[in-house]
Amino acid sequence: MQRLSNFIGGEFSPPIEGRYLEKRDPATGEVIAFVPASGAQDVEAAVAAAQQAFPQWAAVPAEERFSLLMRVAELLEARSEELALAESRDTGKPLWLARQVDIPRAIRNFRFFAAAVLHWSSEAYPAQALHYTIRQPLGVVACIAPWNLPLYLLTWKVAPALAAGNCVVAKPSELTPTTATMLAQIIQQAGFPAGVFNVVHGEGSVAGAALVAHPAVRAISFTGGTHTGREIARIAAPLFKKLTLELGGKNPTIIFTDSPFEQAVAEAVRAAFSNQGEICLCGSRILVQRPLYERFRQEFVQRARTLRVGDPLDPSTQQGALISEAHLQRVLSYVELARQEGGIVLCGGEQIRLEGRCRNGYFFAPTVIEELGPKCRVNQEEIFGPVVTLLPFDEEEEAIAIANGTPYGLAASVWTENLARAHRVAGALQAGIVWINCWMVRDLRTPFGGMKQSGLGREGGWEAFYFFTEPKSVTVAL
Ligand code: NAD
Repeated sequence: MQRLSNFIGGEFSPPIEGRYLEKRDPATGEVIAFVPASGAQDVEAAVAAAQQAFPQWAAVPAEERFSLLMRVAELLEARSEELALAESRDTGKPLWLARQVDIPRAIRNFRFFAAAVLHWSSEAYPAQALHYTIRQPLGVVACIAPWNLPLYLLTWKVAPALAAGNCVVAKPSELTPTTATMLAQIIQQAGFPAGVFNVVHGEGSVAGAALVAHPAVRAISFTGGTHTGREIARIAAPLFKKLTLELGGKNPTIIFTDSPFEQAVAEAVRAAFSNQGEICLCGSRILVQRPLYERFRQEFVQRARTLRVGDPLDPSTQQGALISEAHLQRVLSYVELARQEGGIVLCGGEQIRLEGRCRNGYFFAPTVIEELGPKCRVNQEEIFGPVVTLLPFDEEEEAIAIANGTPYGLAASVWTENLARAHRVAGALQAGIVWINCWMVRDLRTPFGGMKQSGLGREGGWEAFYFFTEPKSVTVAL
């Protein structure tokens, strides 16, 4: 049984009050680790260590920061199999998915922002006077990550924060603590000065809340639920902290009659059920133009039915376990609600009981529901599981109205071969990210984030550097 530690001031340490949380493997239901249930004192120690390290770290030349970040990427790569296994065990996702997506992306995050730091420059405005801008690191910043893509999303924050010269206190999800601990080992091994990177484990409402409220934390980069984002904003706003909030979604996949059918169905299935539907970008509302509706429904449901739900360690598994028993019950409650709201469950809708090693795991059948109006709760609230709805539409305007008719605005995927329509719809959608004839094709240089209740601010590319620095304008009389 693993007993995880915090990482504070360059050292692994137990939580000051000695309290731990049980961490279960979602595929087996067994306790596999104990996670520090850190409190305000641990947060205080981590912030103090980061504050102490900051002046020296901020002065480290860009070339040296580049080398350290590249070294982290190399060490992550060297341990990628071990990391993938840990990620699969913590989340319940298929091991092959962690190997193909989570860990390679964490490595890319470090390489990408290492390279960026060498190209980071600022502006000068020579005129009657010389005006120029310097962008300085903020100091101590908090990076708070969720459980669905643990290392992928944590490194997406940590790499640019460090590259820009900040010191970090990271708070991974208490449900997926292992790879953050391994990242701390790697950062230590890479030779980062003590205190530049710290990890405090624990519950969001205790450790997370203490970190958000700490007066010396200048910025908070948060990814998680909309509800939590609202609470963080409430605490941070009066303290004038910088904030990026990457929150929930209820993303539409819009299929027009002239879409490339084969590809559209295959990608709509992938968008719906990747990572058991536990990705903020998953397309959970599938809007299909009426002449294509019957054909699409038949094909989509048939494919959803044949997705293989199984042991995450089995290479043939397509759908792993949901993150927890509580989450499984929540997903189930939405299927019940759908029935009450008049929905028809076309496939799935229930827990799956496997045999052998995974007999107590939290598995759920890929679920497709139709006959629900766009305004019912199941079509308005984020479920964050393998549950999607099908909605027919007639005209383009109607599709746009349905797509935009939720409090969320994270991502959308549009399928059509009509070029003018593709651009028109992309322009009209209230979403931070729009994919045309594809889903989840990412370039790390593009701004990433959501509109409305899907978030505030953007990550990625220079946006991340802008967030993690404070601009200062200097004017010299000539
Ligand atoms: P969550 O909001 O419950 O937790 C996220 C993190 O915040 C965890 O580390 C948690 O411990 C911490 N936390 C909880 N309460 C806190 C508080 N009061 N103060 C400070 N920290 C606190 O979210 P989750 O269940 O881990 O993740 C699922 C959610 O994340 C979904 O809504 C999903 O859409 C969203 N998400 C969004 C994106 C995006 O990029 N927009 C990406 C992935 C996941």
